Amino acid sequence: NQELSKLAIFDGLTDIANRHYFDRYLAQEWLRGQREKFSLALILADIDYFKLYNDSQGHLQGDDCLKQVAQALAKAVSRPADLVARYGGEEFAIILPQTSANNALLLAEKIRFKIQALNIPHPNSLISNRISLSLGVTAIVPSSQSSEKQLILTADKALYQAKAEGRNRSILKPIT
Ligand code: GH3
Ligand code: MG
Ligand code: MG
Repeated sequence: NQELSKLAIFDGLTDIANRHYFDRYLAQEWLRGQREKFSLALILADIDYFKLYNDSQGHLQGDDCLKQVAQALAKAVSRPADLVARYGGEEFAIILPQTSANNALLLAEKIRFKIQALNIPHPNSLISNRISLSLGVTAIVPSSQSSEKQLILTADKALYQAKAEGRNRSILKPIT
């Protein structure tokens, strides 16, 4: 049973929370934010040119890189209520309760530098010589007029913009 509940929460490769747990946690924090009227921030982070990394370094080293990045992300957040999850393939999501948009952007930049400081060589990257991240950031005070889907959609748009503007950067987008 314990093994089952572990599987329900953690991603098998990286040992951080999985997508299923992310969805549950976000729904819970959305409701809490609505009751307590605090700002809820979300960061979506995606490894730059990771397909080229797999192609040049091999899939096993790709897996190892994902583990290193995930563990660095997990260490980068400090509050007990913060949640780092594997959102999909080489994409990670960070839920930050009681956090303003500007503080979330500061954390995103701190994370970006931390990942660069891991110094994982990526000779085929078109933006750097080591593994780098693009990050999309947003925040909102949850209400019944909005939903957590908007939070995800806006962070995703911000991430898309970070990629389009050249990668290896953080973009903050307000919810409209
Ligand atoms: P971009 O900078 O636009 O994000 O480019 P990208 O190459 O990172 O993005 P793309 O979506 O083209 O490729 C993602 C790659 O991530 C392809 C896929 O093989 C790899 N990937 C996803 N999950 C895993 C995994 O669990 N292990 C390994 N080794 N690779 C994975
Ligand atoms: Mg990528
Ligand atoms: Mg991706």
